[in-house]
Amino acid sequence: MQLYNTLSAKEREKLIEEAGQDRLTISFYKYAHIGNPQILRNHLFLAWDQMDVLGRIYVANEGINAQLSVPAENFNAFKSHLDSISFLENVRLNIAIEQDNKSFLKLKVKVRDKIVADGLNDDTFDVTNKGVHVGAEQFNELIEDPDTVLVDMRNHYESEIGHFKNAITPDVDTFRDSLDIIEKDLAEHKEDKKLVMYCTGGIRCEKASAYYKHKGFKNVYQLEGGIIEYTRQVRAQNLENKFLGKNFVFDHRRGERISEDVISHCHQCGKPCDTHVNCANEACHLLFIQCEECAAAMDNCCSTECQEIHALPYEEQKALRKGKGASNKIFKKGRSPVLKYKK
Ligand SMILES: [Zn+2]
Ligand SMILES: [Zn+2]
Repeated sequence: MQLYNTLSAKEREKLIEEAGQDRLTISFYKYAHIGNPQILRNHLFLAWDQMDVLGRIYVANEGINAQLSVPAENFNAFKSHLDSISFLENVRLNIAIEQDNKSFLKLKVKVRDKIVADGLNDDTFDVTNKGVHVGAEQFNELIEDPDTVLVDMRNHYESEIGHFKNAITPDVDTFRDSLDIIEKDLAEHKEDKKLVMYCTGGIRCEKASAYYKHKGFKNVYQLEGGIIEYTRQVRAQNLENKFLGKNFVFDHRRGERISEDVISHCHQCGKPCDTHVNCANEACHLLFIQCEECAAAMDNCCSTECQEIHALPYEEQKALRKGKGASNKIFKKGRSPVLKYKK
């Protein structure tokens, strides 16, 4: 029985190109009580590997969080397989708007302590006691209400390139940080204000809404399916789009354009730009916003220091990195003093 990925990303890329079939980028999550995540993990891997599903999936006692790429022709088989698992029957699937056949190149199903690294202790509250789920139309009405406080539950580098108009975008590096900031800011308004929140696909709000209810907030709402589902509904139902800019996504596309507005700036020269990149220096990999001109001038690096290292022969770079441990700034801080135009 083959329970793990065996192909390299390069080999997979070649296979996808040769197959020439369209793939769908899909995400879904579900909080549930899972007795033995390892058994579920193996079950999913075996079934999905056969369907040529790729992606990054976390399974934990508290549920499942999955980001996948599924061949379009296998979608129905994939869907019926999900429906055959009782707690995943009719789970809402977020389907990415932009087609990308190479959004994922491996199938990785991992057992974790949590499905989202949220820094919260599960025992303190009931995560199933969540806020009111609202669709795009109701959300549009709610966020124009003067009694509404709209909060972006994502991290600074995500809201920087795109967010809903009128949203509070906490300048935080982690989900845990934003929970505390919001609670403190709204301490006087737990009963009279409507706390409306959103995130990428809804999973963070699922927990945040339960958390705020536990903390005494009376009117807690969350955008069902997050920005991804909102955009789908806005297009399908011809509603007004109130999201400005790009939706940051956690695959190699980095961002999905929702409106033509460019609300952020190149971190190196300050001109309007909303393209996230990772510093080309392998030892740095800082996530930041860089325009094409700066990318050319800086050899895709975040600083002249990284540029110099990046220009060294690979073996020398490797020797420099030795003993320093792998830097993992991807999707993390996205902050550095070398970036002149990053707050
Ligand atoms: Zn620039
Ligand atoms: Zn760098």
